[in-house]
Amino acid sequence: MRQTKSDLEQQISEDSVLIEKSVKIARSKKWRWLLLFLCLLSLSIGYVVSPYSPLVGGWHPLSPLSVTDKLGPFTSFKVKSAMLNKQQCQNALRGYVSFRPAVDKEYSERCHIRNRVVVDKLGLVDIGKIDTRCEVALRAAMWVEHGIQPAAQEFLGQSVSHIRTQGSYNCRTIAGSQRMSLHAQAKALDVAGFRLTDGRKIELSQHWQDNAGAAESKAIARFLHAVRDSACQWFVTVLGPDYNAAHKDHFHLQSSGWGTCR
Ligand SMILES: [Zn+2]
Repeated sequence: MRQTKSDLEQQISEDSVLIEKSVKIARSKKWRWLLLFLCLLSLSIGYVVSPYSPLVGGWHPLSPLSVTDKLGPFTSFKVKSAMLNKQQCQNALRGYVSFRPAVDKEYSERCHIRNRVVVDKLGLVDIGKIDTRCEVALRAAMWVEHGIQPAAQEFLGQSVSHIRTQGSYNCRTIAGSQRMSLHAQAKALDVAGFRLTDGRKIELSQHWQDNAGAAESKAIARFLHAVRDSACQWFVTVLGPDYNAAHKDHFHLQSSGWGTCR
């Protein structure tokens, strides 16, 4: 059957109405989704910034870093942010680390201590007197609180009361090389042993390997390996007895590098 002109016009008009309706529906759906997204976004922001927010510690993206906070998905980000700024770094140490801010030491471009702090205690742990950068002190504090003390409790049923370090700053080259060590800028810390609250001494040189095979010796060796592993969470490079003979009696903990953990 042949369509007349008026039939065609009517068909076009009906199609136009249909198209218009479809566009209206699509638009209203789009707006509904946008509205839902905005509602969810404001609820999420309110959830985080509200003083009644249940998010705390490492689960709260905006609260300042505290060393004793429970770890969460934002902890690592907060530690890195604190290390970018001298004041924020010192604020993060306060309340956990016994330290005094000190004037930077600028011996030369190769040898200096910037963002300098002098530290004598990390939590309840005596570490002698360490002249270092704030970021090294902050990494060490996180290691003590979230690595060393939990491992000491788990494997030895004790807390650590002393850490025997071999210092942080040392203007020297890497042993057997012409390259400067990161100790020359106090970006590293050497740790040789620990003392427990019951007075027992643990030395890497003696206790890394479980030579005796006795239960106590085994527990101490497991403690030291757990402590090395947890150091890798807070420092960028960790070298110990498993790395080479030059580190058979200490952990070398470094703020930068290629991420070696041995
Ligand atoms: Zn070292």
